Amino acid sequence: MQTLSPPPFRDGAAVIPLHSLQPTSCSTGNCSSGLALMPDDDAPCGGSMALMLTRRCNMQCGHCSVESGPHVKGEPTREELLQRIHDAAQNGIMGILVTGGEAMLRPALVLELLRECKKLGIPTAMTSNGSWGRDARKAERTLTELREAGLGSLTISFDRYHAEFQGPQAVENIARAAQKANFTMRVSVTREQDDEDMAALVAPFDAFPNVQLRFYDVQPVGRARKLEGTLRAETGGFCNACGTPAMTDDGRITACNGPAYFSPAYSPLVVGDTREESMQTLLARHNSDPILETIRTFGPEYLKRELQSLPGFEDFGRASYAGMCDLCLHVNSNEKAVEALHTHLSQPRLVALRMAAKRVIEGERCMTWNLDAVNGLAAYRVFLRAALDPVHTWENDAKAILGRADFDWHHQEMHLAQCGLAGPLQKAFSTVQMKRWAPAFFQTRLRDQARIDTLRSLVQREAMRRLSDVLGEVGGRGVLLKGSGMAAFEMETPPHQISRASCDVDIHIAPKYAAKVRARLLQLGWKSEVAEGAIEQNDGEHHHQLGGLRFEGVLVEIHQTLLPSYCGLPERDIIAKARPLQDPSMANLSILSPEGMLLHSVMHGTKHLFSHYLKTAWDMEWVARRFPDLDWDLLAKWANSSGMRRGFWVPITLLTQEFGLSIPAEFVKRALSDRHERRLEDFARKYLLRSTRFDFDNNPWIRRMVQLWFCDSMLHRARTLGGFLFGRSSREFRQRRGLEKSELRFLSPKKLRQIWASWRKLAQ
Ligand code: SF4
Repeated sequence: MQTLSPPPFRDGAAVIPLHSLQPTSCSTGNCSSGLALMPDDDAPCGGSMALMLTRRCNMQCGHCSVESGPHVKGEPTREELLQRIHDAAQNGIMGILVTGGEAMLRPALVLELLRECKKLGIPTAMTSNGSWGRDARKAERTLTELREAGLGSLTISFDRYHAEFQGPQAVENIARAAQKANFTMRVSVTREQDDEDMAALVAPFDAFPNVQLRFYDVQPVGRARKLEGTLRAETGGFCNACGTPAMTDDGRITACNGPAYFSPAYSPLVVGDTREESMQTLLARHNSDPILETIRTFGPEYLKRELQSLPGFEDFGRASYAGMCDLCLHVNSNEKAVEALHTHLSQPRLVALRMAAKRVIEGERCMTWNLDAVNGLAAYRVFLRAALDPVHTWENDAKAILGRADFDWHHQEMHLAQCGLAGPLQKAFSTVQMKRWAPAFFQTRLRDQARIDTLRSLVQREAMRRLSDVLGEVGGRGVLLKGSGMAAFEMETPPHQISRASCDVDIHIAPKYAAKVRARLLQLGWKSEVAEGAIEQNDGEHHHQLGGLRFEGVLVEIHQTLLPSYCGLPERDIIAKARPLQDPSMANLSILSPEGMLLHSVMHGTKHLFSHYLKTAWDMEWVARRFPDLDWDLLAKWANSSGMRRGFWVPITLLTQEFGLSIPAEFVKRALSDRHERRLEDFARKYLLRSTRFDFDNNPWIRRMVQLWFCDSMLHRARTLGGFLFGRSSREFRQRRGLEKSELRFLSPKKLRQIWASWRKLAQ
């Protein structure tokens, strides 16, 4: 597999490899820490500002960087805060982060300020401890009010310190309310060396795909100074937080939201006081100060190295630091060092270098460092490479992705497990880097999952043997599909390679034998997944045509077709090419030919609307590597004769490009290249990037509209639509998903309008 390393950026003499500019896992460790998290995280440096409504808080967390608590007296008035917002707007601020203390101790004021920002056209975000969510109804009502007032993004802090004051219920209530409103929110969790309790902290969010988790290192500032020695002490990378100036409760502007709060006035981290200088002057200083610029492009470590290169400062620094902010505050709390650095860093050569780095960072924020990309495609690339080639695991871009604080380890872990990659990744997880980057629960849960997968594969194997016996009894044959087929191939083909796990056993059995096989298995004690008499699970819309069976807890699905009829695969030809297994205990089983495996896997990925394309990418690479003699002409012929050929060519092109898979370029060139194809590719790319955060598979109507989009002709669309609307499977699908009754009245004008609006948003 080709290595994907980003190109260096060139600006005159400056050559800056991307991987030398590393985002950080820094955290200020209080719930108001801004960390450049403006409404969509891609705001350019200097474009946003944190606004501290109060330093009061109804909690008193042990890691709070601004030492908030109920004891704090004095806070800005309503008029002062409104004035600050107006000043910010006049000075080109493009986003306001409402913070505290706990801003929601002043709820009416929060709403008023949000409305004011809305009037001024400024997007808003808020961080909060979420105590307003303790009552579920109040959580829903408050979230609605906040959103109506204009709140664009919400981050709730929840970690071991907040848990001392309130359990997860309040945050869950808010998450549920957000889910109902189709609103993505963030939960900030702080990390220390010992993070064994984190598994329990994040577990409540398993059920919320709309919650994105971030894992920030606690920094030894404010009350967290007492925690030194327990912290992770990562000092590398550039500081994102330094890109968002903060307006403190007492009217100062600091370089970042939180850690700089107690810095001395001569420190560049305290930019100035609005009672003495205009906001315009202070924001301009924040933007151009050479020390701050260095912190947000190359980071505090680089700053210290530059200082040590100056006469008189060769020995500056301590042997170790308890985190990036510790290092940053140490350098910037030395008045002489600050003075020397200001002069040194103002040299044109260094100014140019920083400008170049800034451009790289801003460019990457729109591309590979975009939050969606980092938690989607970029992460999948890194993990797929690690799963396939554990030897060359964590190169270059891995650090920039997995070393980030806003990397959602929680949902990534769930996604990797669902894609069956827990086992293939184990070798790569034993590396030192991984131990540094990942919270303990990530590896523990995936290690447990790998064990479960191994045990399940043994049961699956036994289930296959018994299926083969029963097929022998009734005189039929079965073809193992997807992960089951790949695992069966690996079992009998040396050198055995680790294959991805499969949740169930999928088998295709010709209709004339399928019901007999199912009945016999029930006689043998296998358990039915569906009510007695309802063995026909669905019609042409769904391809699991007979109700599932359980053997020793493992799900077995008997398919009478490879895929739903609307996919229009040349199934007869594909089945005819299936290869019998050599193992005598599975004499009545076959696996698809490599061409059939690849076609089936890709079309199946499309059917599930990209949500498991990481699994599809693994399957594509596995087939390409395991079968170098694959007949690409035959595959192209089958794909082009299928009713939904775009459902094959779009992912083939996209995944080969994005993951650097070993699919021959000559084959990819055979893809369609018209406008329809390009729009579908854009759409797939967009949702491939977001699949861990946005489960649009949950809305069956949107899902079906996408499937219609893949159809080639009006006739094909009409036939497919008929199946969706009037097929029995439609009802059962909705019921299985537990959708509310109102969801079923999909033909009401209101529902149709909603679907149309969602669809336009998705397809734009
Ligand atoms: S103290 Fe320095 S490193 Fe820490 S958040 Fe502020 S600017 Fe960044």
